[in-house]
Amino acid sequence: MFCIRCGKRAEIDVYCRDCYKDQIDRELFKYTFKICPSCGKIKIGLDWKSDLKSLENYIEQKLIRHFDDARVDIQENMAIVTRNNIDFEFPLEIDYEEILCPVCSRIAGGYYEGEIQLRGAGAKRLLKVITSKFDKSENPYSVKSVREGIDIRFFSSKKALETVRELGLEYKLSRKLHTQIQGKRKYRLTILIRDDGNHTK
Ligand SMILES: [Zn+2]
Ligand SMILES: [Zn+2]
Repeated sequence: MFCIRCGKRAEIDVYCRDCYKDQIDRELFKYTFKICPSCGKIKIGLDWKSDLKSLENYIEQKLIRHFDDARVDIQENMAIVTRNNIDFEFPLEIDYEEILCPVCSRIAGGYYEGEIQLRGAGAKRLLKVITSKFDKSENPYSVKSVREGIDIRFFSSKKALETVRELGLEYKLSRKLHTQIQGKRKYRLTILIRDDGNHTK
């Protein structure tokens, strides 16, 4: 069997490996993803995710429909596809379109599950310690200076409490009825942390 285009030995269907590579549709390697400019998550299928592995898997699944195998390396911006045990390498062309994810857009719209109120002379120090533990993609937050100290508004009460507990900080909790949505009471959590700054360190 010979390649119908160039007459060399055919290796894949009716083509030699070079002509086979030539006729692969380059559009297969072009993707556009939505990325959240606030938390950095990427919309993959229906979900917003922050890990590159999910992105690579997604593209691999798309490519595997056309080849025997596919491997994608986002950091190298490269895809390797395989047919009849022959590898072909292509550069990926990935475009990102910035758009707030649903969580960040709710935050931007003023929604928050609660806030940490930092009070006392050590408020600034606490802010650093706490926000260094907060993951913006897991629990988006915003920081506001108020007369009494600093408020950190957060999206996830659960994550905020986990962080505060993990740090071993002393805190007081209170819950305020915030609104009722279709008969369901929605509460906002306040975590009050006081640090008067007299540390022996
Ligand atoms: Zn050929
Ligand atoms: Zn986001």
